[in-house]
Amino acid sequence: MPIKVLEPELATQIAAGEVVERPVSVVKELVENCLDAGATQITVEIKGGGVEQVRVIDDGEGIPANQVALAFQHHATSKLTHQEQLDSIGTLGFRGEAIPSIAAVSQMTLTTRSRDAGGGQQVQYQWGKKFSESPQGCSPGTAVTVRDLFGNLPARRKFLKSNSAETSRIRELIDRYALAYPEVRFQLTVEGRTSVATPGSGNPAEALLSVYQPDIASGMLRVQADDPESDYGVDGFASAPRLNRANRTYMTFFINRRWIQSRMLSFALEEAYHGLLPERRYPLASLNLTLPYSDVDVNSHPAKREVRFLDESKVYSTLQRAVRAALIADSPVPVLGRSGSDINQLSSANAAASPSFFRSAFDLSGSSGRRSVGSIGSRTNLGSVPLADPGFTPQQALPALRVVGQVRLTYIVAEGPDGMYLLDQHAAHERVLFDRIVRKGSDRSPVSQSLLSPMTVEMTPAQTEVLHTNLAFLASYGFELEPFGENSYLLRAVPSVMTSQNPARSLVDILDMVAFEGLLRQHDDILAASIACHSAIRAGKALTEPEMRALLEELEVTDNPHTCPHGRPTLIHFSEYQMDREFGRR
Ligand code: ADP
Ligand code: MG
Repeated sequence: MPIKVLEPELATQIAAGEVVERPVSVVKELVENCLDAGATQITVEIKGGGVEQVRVIDDGEGIPANQVALAFQHHATSKLTHQEQLDSIGTLGFRGEAIPSIAAVSQMTLTTRSRDAGGGQQVQYQWGKKFSESPQGCSPGTAVTVRDLFGNLPARRKFLKSNSAETSRIRELIDRYALAYPEVRFQLTVEGRTSVATPGSGNPAEALLSVYQPDIASGMLRVQADDPESDYGVDGFASAPRLNRANRTYMTFFINRRWIQSRMLSFALEEAYHGLLPERRYPLASLNLTLPYSDVDVNSHPAKREVRFLDESKVYSTLQRAVRAALIADSPVPVLGRSGSDINQLSSANAAASPSFFRSAFDLSGSSGRRSVGSIGSRTNLGSVPLADPGFTPQQALPALRVVGQVRLTYIVAEGPDGMYLLDQHAAHERVLFDRIVRKGSDRSPVSQSLLSPMTVEMTPAQTEVLHTNLAFLASYGFELEPFGENSYLLRAVPSVMTSQNPARSLVDILDMVAFEGLLRQHDDILAASIACHSAIRAGKALTEPEMRALLEELEVTDNPHTCPHGRPTLIHFSEYQMDREFGRR
């Protein structure tokens, strides 16, 4: 067939497909325009799943009458004037594509009045063609109505879900923006009924309460990291570990208040919950990262959904540490501070003022100053959880412990010569496995278990690269792998410590963990730590008494029983003296 240039109308419709996929994309683009226009109030009205009608009204700066027609032209934007600006984009829009794209696939009316104008202007488009423009009385701001979406593209419409499914996507979108912009009053109405209404008070907690049911809102922790030393900050909410979900749908990330999708950020978030959630459970979160505009490239995806970072590891660690700090501050473990009785703190759900939670574990190791994890009050170093320093040997072995029982299917209570010990079963098991793996690795006599039938491991090119660079290590730890196509391998055997139901998936998880941990810090044992982490028992698993006893016995003989390979504590010690003081016996 001969090559022909597409008819402009057809080209526009094809291009529109990249920006406007479904009703929620229309709402997203229009709401972003309101936010760019400095709106303090945004009303979204939906009918028929957003296909029949989407109407978005704002009180922003409006468009001067003589420029309204321009907004409908491709690549027409007021937000970008010269090329250098592309390197540091501060507005949500910048391509000048949304209005013409939506207009090409709908019947669109835009009514606007700029703040200092005497009256407004109205333009109407139908399937990309203007059919009227005239002055129109209205209040300052902009109202856009989009009707009969994809009415000219029946093929496109076929791919939409039911009205209620499209509506719930829109509801989720508004929820997300409402959380990231607590100073803006959002209102969503569906078929005339109010679905969400936020106060716009600027208080994130109030926005949270208007978006979530009280039981969910009360399980969310405030995350805030605004270290004056760093130009990277985090603000938002993440769920306490008891509140979790079976998938990642409830993780929302904003970069400079632009909603984006990022596998790397989900991983950083999950890593912050390391050992706190049962397997295949995920936290809820809505987090905004603030960083210099020049450190992020937002111009790498047609719908602006993905971004590229200049310094991925800094982004990763900023988010991970901020969330970890919030989780530690919320820790349910009672604080038995050395400074004496503090019964109030025992009942306080928010232990923000009590830095001693982790300290007791480190006191026990006899190295008080050096390994201190930091205090809740000084956010800067809290949550900086170094991998166990190989040069660091506390050499204060654990005393023999007697198992008392299991709490919340997560912690083991034990009694020792001086009081009570509370162990984190996952962290303790991780330490045991790590030592076993490293010992086997250095002996060069891996203990593998063969799989009954080999499994194919499918990987992304990035994962394949991690696998290639670590192939020798993986073999020395007991993985038997054989090339099998470009980005896949045959897995024949795994380290004997691995009890995973799906070893291929665990291997891929381990590769991901190595990749991301490797961004954070260089350490020979990252691979061993990742294998240990993915093989260790999780929180939520019931343990029998013999199992608990075996775990404690094995922990007692490890080189560093007090921390897991990531440097977090495996146990907390409550001395007899501390207990007696709490009960007023001393
Ligand atoms: P972009 O947002 O990338 O600039 P759009 O096609 O979304 O492109 O919008 C084109 C232009 O129309 C914007 O640059 C802005 O000047 C104007 N505009 C659109 N929506 C609004 C609004 N709600 N309030 C004020 N101006 C708007
Ligand atoms: Mg826009």
